[in-house]
Amino acid sequence: MLGLMQSQPLLISSLIEFADRHHSDGEIISRRVEGDIHRYTWSDVAKRSRQVANALDGMKLAFSDRVATLAWNGYRHLELYFGVSGSGRVLHTINPRLHPDQVVWIANHAEDQILCFDMSFLPIVQAVHARCSTIKQFVAMCDADKLPADSGIPNLISYEAWIGKQSTQYSWPQFDENSASSMCYTSGTTGNPKAALYSHRSTTLHAYAAALPDVMGLSARDSVLPVVPMFHVNAWGIPYSAALTGCKLVFPGPAMDGKSIYELIEAEKVSYAAGVPTVWQMMLGHMKPAGLKFSTLKRTVIGGSACPPAMIHAFQEDYGVEVLHAWGMTEMSPLGTLNTLKNKQLGLPQDEQMKIRLKQGRAIYGVDMKIVDADGKELPWDGKTYGDLLVKGPWIVKEYFKGEGGDPLKYDEAGAGWFPTGDVATIDESGFMQITDRSKDVIKSGGEWISSIDVENIAMAHPAIAMAACVGMPHPKWDERPIIAVVKKPGMEVSRDELIKFYDGKTAKWQIPDDVVFVDAIPLGATGKMQKMKLREQLKDYKLPTA
Ligand code: ADP
Repeated sequence: MLGLMQSQPLLISSLIEFADRHHSDGEIISRRVEGDIHRYTWSDVAKRSRQVANALDGMKLAFSDRVATLAWNGYRHLELYFGVSGSGRVLHTINPRLHPDQVVWIANHAEDQILCFDMSFLPIVQAVHARCSTIKQFVAMCDADKLPADSGIPNLISYEAWIGKQSTQYSWPQFDENSASSMCYTSGTTGNPKAALYSHRSTTLHAYAAALPDVMGLSARDSVLPVVPMFHVNAWGIPYSAALTGCKLVFPGPAMDGKSIYELIEAEKVSYAAGVPTVWQMMLGHMKPAGLKFSTLKRTVIGGSACPPAMIHAFQEDYGVEVLHAWGMTEMSPLGTLNTLKNKQLGLPQDEQMKIRLKQGRAIYGVDMKIVDADGKELPWDGKTYGDLLVKGPWIVKEYFKGEGGDPLKYDEAGAGWFPTGDVATIDESGFMQITDRSKDVIKSGGEWISSIDVENIAMAHPAIAMAACVGMPHPKWDERPIIAVVKKPGMEVSRDELIKFYDGKTAKWQIPDDVVFVDAIPLGATGKMQKMKLREQLKDYKLPTA
C-alpha cells in the first residue's frame, strides 16, 4: 500500500519560489566588483532568475546543457544558481583561481555552452576564449554601459542587456528530481580534475540538512556571510539553504581581505559567517593589532581544512564567537560532519568540551560513515583507532561525470557502495570523527603514523606563527620524519630551537618535528588549502639534519 501524500519532485526552482512567496522582502547584500554595495531582496532574485531562465530558453539551450560561471559571491551569481538549474540546465561553477589551461580543459570537458563571468576575470576569458570550443556565448556580468568595446571576445554581451529584455514571468518546468542541476570539478591533485555532478534531489536534501540546528543552523533571523566561494562546491550549499530559510545574505564579492570582510560583517550586522581557516587567519590578523571586536557575529562555520585549535580558542575567548568545525568534500555536496555538542556533553568541564569541539564533528542525517582497515574491515569507534574514512548517502557521488576514473565506490558484504574519502580518521564512542590526515599526507615514522595536522596545530598555537605545514622527509632509519615549515607573523620572531622546545609536553617525543624550516609563504591551492605537494617540491633539496 502506498502512502497517500502529495508527491512533488524536489527541485531547485521550489527553493526560489518559496523564498519569493514567503521571504520576499528578505535582504541580499553584495559588494560588487565596481566596489559599491548592491541591495535587493529575495523577490528580486526570483524575478531575475526567471529572466535568466527566459534568456536560456530564448537561446534554445537544451535540457541539461551546461552554463558555466567564473564569478565571485554576488547577486548575479545567485540568480544564475536558480535560473540555470531551475530551468533544467546545469550550472557549472568554475574556480577562477585555476590555471587558465585547466579552465580550458574543464570547460571543454563539461561541454559548456555559455560562460558568464565577473569583470575581474576578463583577462582570463580573453586568454582562454578561443580554446573553449563548445562555448557559443560569453556573458560579462556587468551593466550594459560597462561592457568593454574592444575585449577581443566575439559577440560579448553584458548580463544586464542579456536578461534585461526578458520577461519576469516564467513557469518553472517540472521534471525528474534526479536530473543534474550543477557540477563542480575537484582540484585534481592527481591527474585531470573529475567532476561531481549534483542533482536537484541531492541539492535540496543537502539544503534541508544543512539548515538544521545541529548542522549549520540557519534561520530567517540570521544575517549570513558566506566567504566560502560560490565557485567551489556551491559555497557549501548556503545559497540553497538561505532560500529555504529566508535568511539575509551578505556577499563579499571580490574583496576577500581581512579588513574588507571585517567591515562588511560590522556594516551588515552579520550574525553567521562561513569560510576556510586561511580566510579567518587573515581577518583575525587584521583585527588583533587594531583591537577590533565584533558587535553582531555569533557563529562561524570553519572547514575545508583542519581548523587549528588556536583559532577556535581565539574566536571563542577573544571575540565571543562560536566556531562550528565542519568537514566535507566536493564529492559530498560538501557537508559530511559538523561539530556541535550533544546534550550529555554540556555538563563537561570547559577543557573537556574543547577537546571534543576540535574534532571535525558528527555525521549529519543523510551521511553515514565508517572507518576501515586495509582489508576493508570496519574498525571500532573508540576515538583512538584510525582507518580509511568511507561515506555513503544521497548527496554523495556514486560516479564522476562521464564515468571518469571508473567506479569510485568500495562495496561492503551487503553490496552497499561506500565512497572512499581519501582521509584517515578516528571516530569516538559518541560518533565524533576526527581527521588524522589526508592519507597521502600522513607521516610514516618507524611503523607508526604521525598526524601532520596535530603537528601543525601545535605550531599554530605559538604566538609568532602565522601558518604552519608539516611534511614527512625521507629518513634512513625511520622511513620518514616530520618537519614543520612555518611563516612568521609580521614583526614577530621565534628561533628554530624555541619552536621545537614549544612542543615539549604537548605531544609524544617521537611526534615532535625534527626540524623547522622558515618560509615566506606556504603554497595555497585554488580553494585556499595548503598544497603540500608543491611544498615538498620546493623542499626537494632539503636534507634532514637527523638523517
Ligand atoms: P579538493 O581540495 O580536492 O578540491 P575538497 O575541497 O572537496 O577537495 O576537499 C576535501 C578534503 O578537504 C577532505 O577530503 C579533507 O581532506 C579536507 N578537509 C575538509 N574539511 C576539513 C576539516 N575540517 N579538517 C581537515 N580536513 C578537511
